[in-house]
Amino acid sequence: MTAFRAALAALIWLALAGCGVSGSPSQHSAFPDGSTMALIRQRGVLTVGIKFDHPLFGYKDPATGRITGFDAEIARLVAKDLTGSESNIRFIETIPRNREDFLQRGVVDVVLATYSITPARRRLVGFTDPYYYAGQDVLVRADDTAVQEPADMGGKKVCTARGSTSVDRLRSTVPRAELEIVDTYMECVTALITGRIDAISTDDTILLGLMLQHPEQVRLLGKPFGREPYGMGVRHDDDAFRGYLDGLIAGYLRDGRWDRAFRDTIGVAGAAAGQAKPASDRH
Ligand code: GLU
Repeated sequence: MTAFRAALAALIWLALAGCGVSGSPSQHSAFPDGSTMALIRQRGVLTVGIKFDHPLFGYKDPATGRITGFDAEIARLVAKDLTGSESNIRFIETIPRNREDFLQRGVVDVVLATYSITPARRRLVGFTDPYYYAGQDVLVRADDTAVQEPADMGGKKVCTARGSTSVDRLRSTVPRAELEIVDTYMECVTALITGRIDAISTDDTILLGLMLQHPEQVRLLGKPFGREPYGMGVRHDDDAFRGYLDGLIAGYLRDGRWDRAFRDTIGVAGAAAGQAKPASDRH
């Protein structure tokens, strides 16, 4: 009887493991030896470079320490696909100017940090297909009526972050803006509220999060003047890992996981997915 039970238990265990009910990565196909995917699975942890200061996108909740936001949700989906559990993840803070460096030095496996795909960056790192489209916009004080259009930033003090595409677009589209360039967008907020600067300009995803923190004091123009395709950054020439991630992104766009991540994060601010969602048929 005992032997019978043991055999039965073994059979049930095998059946469950075979179906992947345990949620272990054994349900996935094997990765090529030496690939980044195999390495991460073996290590059991995915390291992700992410922003810590953008509510709704990549944010370290001071009360719980949990990293929240759209980028965090997408990163957790990747960790689950790679390792079998979304909690096999280590988030490391990146700021606009150190994302390439973190990838090149192997500090992180992947960067998901409001990271726009650009030709200049492509020379240093690899990018997946876009998983989100943001737009560059402008945040002003709620009672300031002087800035209504991006062009009104001419002659005004505008704050943005070093190493971002926002700096380049401001220089080319509003060359008369007086730029105050800092390391993180958070540094711009107090300067705006106290009147030391007149506007903050960067992606609407980031500005929405800042607005959420100071709803009475600031106002979003809502007139995007440039499209920012976000990609996951990987090491330069790691085509296998990039291709693997492209496949995951295509799946998330098709099967409702992208929509769920949007609804639970940036969507709570009342934003509609609209232009933000890449067409899944492109993937
Ligand atoms: N998405 C733009 C960039 O990658 C601006 C936002 C940011 O600095 O993260 O530069």
